[in-house]
Amino acid sequence: MKKFDKLTVCLDMHGCPNRCRHCWLGASPNGNMNGDELIFAAEKLKSFAESFEIDFWYREPDFCDNYSEMWDLTEKLSDVKTSHYELMSFWRAVRDKDYVPWLFSKGVRSCQLTLFGGEEKTDFYVGRKGAYNEIVKAAELLLEHKIAPRFQIFVNKDNIGELSVIERLIEDMELEKRCESFGAEFNLFIHQGSCDGENEKLYDIRVSEEDLEKIPKKLSDMTLKYFRKKDIKEVFGEKESDLCRAFAQDRSTFDLRESSPVFYVDGSFDVYPNISAPSSIYKLGNLKNGAEEIAESYLENKSAAQKASANVPVCEMAEKCGDFKSERLFSTGDYRNYILNKYCALS
Ligand code: SF4
Repeated sequence: MKKFDKLTVCLDMHGCPNRCRHCWLGASPNGNMNGDELIFAAEKLKSFAESFEIDFWYREPDFCDNYSEMWDLTEKLSDVKTSHYELMSFWRAVRDKDYVPWLFSKGVRSCQLTLFGGEEKTDFYVGRKGAYNEIVKAAELLLEHKIAPRFQIFVNKDNIGELSVIERLIEDMELEKRCESFGAEFNLFIHQGSCDGENEKLYDIRVSEEDLEKIPKKLSDMTLKYFRKKDIKEVFGEKESDLCRAFAQDRSTFDLRESSPVFYVDGSFDVYPNISAPSSIYKLGNLKNGAEEIAESYLENKSAAQKASANVPVCEMAEKCGDFKSERLFSTGDYRNYILNKYCALS
């Protein structure tokens, strides 16, 4: 069997304390895996790649109490170890005084926090009361430890009118000035996210072009700077109707295989490629039944989604699943993914 150049395997060892309504990874039960199970996954999959890396989360980073020990174990089990991502657990940050200093010790100098507006909207979208206050507290803790918070803001029709609350929060916390004081920059970006996992359920309230006028200028300018774009419409993409018309002329198919894939292993050892939400249409197999069938399933495009993507032209998917009258905005890649998932669900 052909070896991958690199294989990255991420286990959902403990899941996530949140149930975000925009979560592209979907809402699955939290697992309770231990270090031996991490070793088991590494032993099973390592031989399928020239270079191997393993991580202990793909939902909430560092959610398990022994995150530091798990980090060290993944270092031992990996041929290469990517630096800690600029992602964090705000849940842990406000409960564990050692966590933010630990992030700093791992070289993290900027870290992303997600908001949806003020307290009510953010708690609603994160799916947990108290989330907004924890996020604000986590931002404070980051600043105290000379890590620059970066705000990611997801918008739909129901919260895009509330962004002035975030503008005020930035001023009240003096985020720009305080980041500058330790030589960092405060960044922020707004977008609508993909349309898979939990986020697919928000399709009906997905933003359209007229909603973009509600974004305050300061936040729009920061978003353009972050994405290096000139016009906010470039950030939010095109109307679904325009994408449908373009796709209707396109007989392309898309092979989703990569030479260096990322595999997600959920709390029951089911394995999925990191393409869209880990769901039955992407499932490669269960690691307990052996790793051969998982590698083979990926390499031979056996899952329903990989097979459809490689064989069904996008024009057929657009004709069957697209809405040729919709004003909703999508990036081209996100829309292709959305109609692929929809096509598979209907097939
Ligand atoms: S978006 Fe992140 S924090 Fe929210 S439920 Fe998904 S994994 Fe958890």
